[in-house]
Amino acid sequence: MSESNLTCDVLVLGGGPGGYSAAFRAADLGLSVVVVERYATLGGVCLNVGCIPSKALLHVASVMDEARHLAAIGVDFDAPKIDRDKLRAHKDKVIAKLTGGLAAMAKMRKVALLRGVGTFTGPNQLKVEETAGPGQAKTGGVKTVQLKRAIIAAGSQAVRLPFMPQDPRIVDSTGALALAHAPRRMLILGGGIIGLEMGTVYSTLGARLDVVEMLDGLMPGADRDLVRVWQKVNAPRFDRIMLKTKTVAARATDAGIEVTFEGDGAPPPQTYDLVLQAVGRSPNGARIGAQAAGVAVNERGFIAVDAQMRTSAPHIFAIGDIVGQPMLAHKAVHEGHVAAEVIAGELKGDEKLARAAFDARVIPAVAYTDPEVAWVGLTEDQAKAQGIAVKKGLFPWAASGRAIANGRDEGFTKLLFEQASGRIVGGGIVGTHAGDLIGEVALAIEMGADALDIGHTIHPHPTLGESIGLAAEAVHGACTDLPPARKR
Ligand SMILES: Cc1cc2nc3c(=O)[nH]c(=O)nc-3n(C[C@H](O)[C@H](O)[C@H](O)COP(=O)(O)OP(=O)(O)OC[C@H]3O[C@@H](n4cnc5c(N)ncnc54)[C@H](O)[C@@H]3O)c2cc1C
Repeated sequence: MSESNLTCDVLVLGGGPGGYSAAFRAADLGLSVVVVERYATLGGVCLNVGCIPSKALLHVASVMDEARHLAAIGVDFDAPKIDRDKLRAHKDKVIAKLTGGLAAMAKMRKVALLRGVGTFTGPNQLKVEETAGPGQAKTGGVKTVQLKRAIIAAGSQAVRLPFMPQDPRIVDSTGALALAHAPRRMLILGGGIIGLEMGTVYSTLGARLDVVEMLDGLMPGADRDLVRVWQKVNAPRFDRIMLKTKTVAARATDAGIEVTFEGDGAPPPQTYDLVLQAVGRSPNGARIGAQAAGVAVNERGFIAVDAQMRTSAPHIFAIGDIVGQPMLAHKAVHEGHVAAEVIAGELKGDEKLARAAFDARVIPAVAYTDPEVAWVGLTEDQAKAQGIAVKKGLFPWAASGRAIANGRDEGFTKLLFEQASGRIVGGGIVGTHAGDLIGEVALAIEMGADALDIGHTIHPHPTLGESIGLAAEAVHGACTDLPPARKR
């Protein structure tokens, strides 16, 4: 066993989007930084087994679906031949390009990368059990890092239902992304974004889908009118959408995984070639020796932080999935920047930086399904529940020249303006590329824009983005791309 010591201003535990963003920002602000990451590459869940590989596969699926749609308008391709090995290699190349870029940028910034499993052994000390190879196999080597400040960015992992047998035909999102199976019948356990995105890929590659969800709707968190559009377009992918239904048992058989359901319309036990568990993610707070550093972790493994991302130990910060919902990469990145700035401000005596805080009004959410569903700020359901009176501007894509030209006019753009102030407080979009469009709505909310600001902003024609300006015009009954507003 080899032991040696490193010292640094800031120790970042975990090299995911939160961790590397914090580390790079801290280094840019002149601090010495060590990142401890157990896997071979930076990028965490997002780059290695999350956002990026799923989007690489979703892109392929959407091109395949698009090609199929063209048959109806006179352009017919042969049935696709799928080479899973090549497809996997493509996805891996995308990941390698991005993670390789991060390693290069870490080097440019002189951020030290230490590979291993980190555990706090004191308020200013982290033990690192070194790892090697493609997974997290320990080599026996141990290093100790002495730190002035720390940023915990240790992320989360997929929840596994306790009664699920150990069987290669039962996978989490990481297993699904490995593309090791070509199921004919697939069950998605959990009707959230991750499950539905992976379901989209597998269905386009040839699987028939069932989905089971305990709540009364899919994509919890999004307004139902948005989800209805997605559901109508995607109905052909599914044999069963089981809502208000619990999965209570599973058994591995030669024929497949036999799953038992309980609930109002639960079918008799069903057998699947592949079961994807997508029932949520749990934070890694209980696995990092946080108590040795004086950091409070709750019973679910989350670490509570203040607006500066400071934990119960004043010199230790936490960011990303480990501090709570929404578990999204863009939230982790912003939190990472805040923590790095506060620390740099304190260590370098820069009062302005030391006052940095997470003050974003909204965090957008996107399901990169087909069509995409995106929302930001207050939803209509939340406005109702909170008793906030809102005015709705809605632009149906059936009136959008671009959406019609694309043959995809099923979507709509909806903006919500607070009655009292006139300012935009939320928005939702369902349609192709909704995820790329929602950023403008987030910006409008951050800027405190009203319907005139957005409606008077000239959007290029013909684009899907136009629908945002037109939805704002609709609020005033001034949208000439829609039938005239009814006179009151
Ligand atoms: C299939 C899938 C698709 C997703 N798609 C999207 C998307 O499209 N958009 C989006 O915004 N979000 C998406 N997410 C969520 C996103 O990946 C996470 O929110 C994001 O990665 C969180 O970043 P993080 O830095 O907090 O943690 P993570 O990315 O989880 O990184 C934590 C890192 O810490 C390391 N680590 C943990 N403990 C230790 C330890 N003790 N020692 C050393 N290293 C340790 C881990 O190995 C990991 O690399 C997706 C997630 C999944 C699973």
